[in-house]
Amino acid sequence: MTVEAKKETLGFQTEVKHLLHLMIHSLYSNKEIFLRELISNGSDAIDKLRFEALSNDGLYEGNSELAIRVAFDKDARTVTVTDSGIGMTREEVQDHIGTIAKSGTKQFFEKMTGDEAKDSELIGQFGVGFYSAFIVADKVTLTTRKAGEKEAVRWESAGEGDYTIEAVEKESRGTEIVLHLKEGEDEFLDSYRLRSIITKFSDHISVPIIMDKEIPAETDEDGKETAPARIEEETVNSASALWTRSKDEITDEEYNEFYKHVGHDFQEPLAHVHSKVEGTNEYTLLLYVPARAPFDMWDRDAKHGVKLYIRKVFITDDAEQLMPRYLRFVRGVIDADSLPLNVSREILQQSKQISTIKAGAVKKVLGLLKTLSKDAEKYEKFWSEFGNVIKEGVIEDHKNKDAIAKLLRFSSTHTDKEKQDVSLEDYVSRMKEGQDKIYYVTADSFSAAKNSPHLEIFRKKGIEVILMADRVDEWLISNLTEFDGKQLQSVAKGELDLDKLDTEEEKKEKEETSKDFESILKQMKEVLGDKVSEVRVTNRLTDSPACLVTGDNDMSLNMERIMKEAGQSMNMMGMGGSKPIFEINPTHALVTSIKDEQDDDRFADITNILFDQAILSEGGQLDDPAAFVHKLNGLLQGLLK
Ligand code: ADP
Repeated sequence: MTVEAKKETLGFQTEVKHLLHLMIHSLYSNKEIFLRELISNGSDAIDKLRFEALSNDGLYEGNSELAIRVAFDKDARTVTVTDSGIGMTREEVQDHIGTIAKSGTKQFFEKMTGDEAKDSELIGQFGVGFYSAFIVADKVTLTTRKAGEKEAVRWESAGEGDYTIEAVEKESRGTEIVLHLKEGEDEFLDSYRLRSIITKFSDHISVPIIMDKEIPAETDEDGKETAPARIEEETVNSASALWTRSKDEITDEEYNEFYKHVGHDFQEPLAHVHSKVEGTNEYTLLLYVPARAPFDMWDRDAKHGVKLYIRKVFITDDAEQLMPRYLRFVRGVIDADSLPLNVSREILQQSKQISTIKAGAVKKVLGLLKTLSKDAEKYEKFWSEFGNVIKEGVIEDHKNKDAIAKLLRFSSTHTDKEKQDVSLEDYVSRMKEGQDKIYYVTADSFSAAKNSPHLEIFRKKGIEVILMADRVDEWLISNLTEFDGKQLQSVAKGELDLDKLDTEEEKKEKEETSKDFESILKQMKEVLGDKVSEVRVTNRLTDSPACLVTGDNDMSLNMERIMKEAGQSMNMMGMGGSKPIFEINPTHALVTSIKDEQDDDRFADITNILFDQAILSEGGQLDDPAAFVHKLNGLLQGLLK
């Protein structure tokens, strides 16, 4: 007897125990989904076998029947799901059944609230798959043999702390799962019940799902038996690949159930597009936008969700080349008609046809999102889940930049609300007469953006400004310099070219004040020295005494902060010699009073305080906060004397 043949008892990973417990309690009201999950796994296993067998038909072992069988035994109180798919080796059983290797697992458990309804939604989003068997079973026996291997394994567990695993004999390849039903679950020992679950949830599965059917004895008119009672096999589902059927024959329920299978999701999708592209490079696609972001959306190595089929034969679900990274949440299938079946992954990567299909599929998804954007409620949901990923598209996909830009939503001073629901088209439609730019501000939080001193003049003039506070926004904006022929302009960069919007009177006043302040500006520059490139009179402020501005082509202060946090060493006050410009507000009482300050030290202190305050009000950090406090206290003490 080999070591492996011995029966081993192993403990579940802590997370599995936790998940099982949660699942049994919160998914109980949907308990029949266990059958869908097991059938879905069986169908995936058959897909994998079919693909592997393309290059090695020995894997069929002389039996090319590809089917899933569902059976029950009233006496033993068991339901059995069998597939003739690829099967699993002992290692695979240990890795997949009894362990959760999914990324995002930790975040998932952190999100658990204890509230049943909420948690069951989260569990659904996370995906439960095989473990759902334990909702109805108090013992599960899984016997599997990998196609082409001799040894089979049996895995068994009561779904509590541990499981056993042992080597066994199994004649046919594939996997058999026996559910020993819990007390009170006898409803599943019923042919009609099982059939109706299969047709409800698994009709779209493209391999046959077979059940035994009892045919009663046949008799002639005289009551003489002409055929004895017998059992025949019957295919319960329609067993055609859903995407190959015509759109008007498919119901919403069928589309939704198919999504749950390909997307490994419990929830209904938000939207789908189903389309057949004709021509020399023919393909069919059925793609979905989920309602919720998957847990591993921010994991750069996470699998992509679009499966590639060639003439209904599954090829890979790892086809990075089918969707760009910024559409990595899209789920579904693409079935190519004109690719050769024996295509390898390497060939796929360089295939011209695949890149054409990808380009076409991306256009379809962007079109779907455009349509979705007309439904405010749905789009809001979509944007809150996937907005930050879509923004990456502006950076990643130059060809479709204009289409993606139209999908973007922002906060703006129009509503001053954090909710991102302003499109660039909305903004343009509200532009003031004479306004030729789209103004925005970036900051590291919504409230810092909303309260930025740079907005003062815009608020006064009633010009809308887009408020950006997501990390990706700085990159977004450096890639999106124009929309609809209008330049995007940071309110914190360069000279503000709002003169066109000024009245004659305002213009004249500005010129005069600038002259008035010439010597003060010079003196301030001497105090601040290298910290700034220039000191000038501002036309941005109404309520604040001073602010910092960067040059048109310089990195924004917010971007510098992000880079610094990310460990890029650079001076907060500028990179590559670019220093901010210090702008003072000539109408502010603090600034007008400093004009008459005779004491040079006090002048320097006030200047430094104004400068530091400008950094603080941008959400920045002071190089020497203690010195700031010391100077400020010095001034306050002077007031109290
Ligand atoms: P999911 O199906 O969402 O990946 P499961 O827990 O249902 O999660 O399954 C985990 C893994 O176990 C699958 O990805 C697959 O590799 C393997 N597996 C499950 N059921 C089968 C089966 N019937 N045949 C072969 N492999 C299976």
